[in-house]
Amino acid sequence: MWWSRVSTCLYHNSPKIACIVTGMRCPFCSTDDDRVVDSRLAEDGVAIRRRRECAACGQRYTTFERIEEVGLVVVKRSGEREPFDQSKILMGIRAACKNRPVDERVMEGIAATVEESMRLLNRDVSSEEIGRATLDAIRPIDDVAYVRFASVYKGFEGTEDFAREIGMLVKSTAPKLRN
Ligand SMILES: [Zn+2]
Repeated sequence: MWWSRVSTCLYHNSPKIACIVTGMRCPFCSTDDDRVVDSRLAEDGVAIRRRRECAACGQRYTTFERIEEVGLVVVKRSGEREPFDQSKILMGIRAACKNRPVDERVMEGIAATVEESMRLLNRDVSSEEIGRATLDAIRPIDDVAYVRFASVYKGFEGTEDFAREIGMLVKSTAPKLRN
């Protein structure tokens, strides 16, 4: 499958969240060598409170590690910018998969994969890139859904466009069928 992890957040293991940890030095002697004696969630789970003990002077102090949602910005064809919205992608996938044997959970998986791959780029993304990533993710799942999504994404205007896309699809999957 095509799952990948984006974030290295130890506490959430989620691509949507990254932990921002500031450098810590002992407020008494400025040594940055300490041991954590206690950790707990604070502020309704958006921060982690740690009790630390300085290895050099033995003083104890408290740090807060804040967790921030990393914003992903989408640049639309019009140049307009908006926050990334996974539900919009899911809507497009659902439309393409209508009446096809594709499980809702698979569709959600595609949307999540697209979001993760966009976050991996670590920059603003265009709606075109999102469309391309979605198309690529749908392709191995369902041929009909793929062509439907391609018709929207690539702006098909006539039957020739469909014929060309299906032709390419058949060509690229043909070697597999012979196996
Ligand atoms: Zn110290």
